Amino acid sequence: MAQQTLEVTQATTLKEKPDAATLEFGKHFSDHMFMMNYTSEEGWHHPRIVPYQPLTMDPSAMVFHYGQTVFEGLKAYRSSDGHVRLFRPEENFRRLNQSCDRLCIPTVNEEAMLDYLKEYVKLDKEWIPSEPGTSLYIRPFIISTEPTLDVSPSRTYTLMIILSPVGSFYKGGIDPVSIFVEDEFTRAAPGGTGNAKTAGNYSGAYKAQNRAAGHQKAQVLWLDGVEKRYIEEVGSMNVFFKIDGEIHTPALNGSILEGITRKSVIELLESEGMPVRERKISIDEIIAANESGSLQEVFGTGTAAVISPVGGLEYKDRDYVINNGEMGETASWLHETLVGIQTGELDDPFGWSVVLER
Ligand SMILES: *Cc1c(COP(=O)(O)O)cnc(C)c1O
Repeated sequence: MAQQTLEVTQATTLKEKPDAATLEFGKHFSDHMFMMNYTSEEGWHHPRIVPYQPLTMDPSAMVFHYGQTVFEGLKAYRSSDGHVRLFRPEENFRRLNQSCDRLCIPTVNEEAMLDYLKEYVKLDKEWIPSEPGTSLYIRPFIISTEPTLDVSPSRTYTLMIILSPVGSFYKGGIDPVSIFVEDEFTRAAPGGTGNAKTAGNYSGAYKAQNRAAGHQKAQVLWLDGVEKRYIEEVGSMNVFFKIDGEIHTPALNGSILEGITRKSVIELLESEGMPVRERKISIDEIIAANESGSLQEVFGTGTAAVISPVGGLEYKDRDYVINNGEMGETASWLHETLVGIQTGELDDPFGWSVVLER
């Protein structure tokens, strides 16, 4: 697909912006949305920015029935000098295409998508909050639209991007979360769709999420789908362990989502001379390390929270406290460093940020 002209239709009335102090995740949306269509004859075509509006769809559209859909999540930050930065956006479009491939959705032109996204974020840049900890969450997604109940890949799709100002994940400081080790329901299985950002992985997790909430735990710790023994992820985050001064994380195995924050954390630690060991990690090993005092830190990584320390876990009806329920030094350093790079307050030696003109 050669790059096509981006058509822009400006909204005639602009919405009122929410108060940055009370922002919740994904409740408010900006004035415009990005759209593009796919047909087998024309490929991806007609990229456009239009006023944010509801869609009209045929009730038989395939996405409603069989969930052939993929999404992404990334953020734009406004720094104190007024510049707008996207954090590693080319990684998100690369992963979008990996998800597309798994779901039999036609892939997109990654470079063209990044250009469209830059134009779109610039148009709605007033929606990027500037208070510490706030950002503009960017949600690209693709839905299958062919009107048929046939169980096969759709021949038509719509790609959209919407923008949502989000507040600090940690209002009033970073509070470590407690997690529930789920040993009945699983999130993903070998050969399944666990490493794709596709809707069914998330709705299939609600049952376990509800059970964790019933135990006053904020997140689910997912175990592997075969033996229910090896650690995969925590909620919708990748997970890291500090044991005897070394950092460990589950190796990518096809059922774990390949997080961009995970990748960034590994690269950051490596550049500090702290190589991360990517391997199979069993829940028994973690419980034993905690009992013996060698488990120093547990934290999750993802775009929404960046770094989320874990202060306790429940496994087989027993509660365990991790690091006195406090955030550890590695998690603190990673959080400060990553957020500093993302917002432009710290140098960006890796060239991760894409800076938009003011
Ligand atoms: C998106 C996601 C992550 C984190 O990925 P980031 O690119 O770091 O935001 C981890 N696990 C799951 C299941 C996810 O959907």
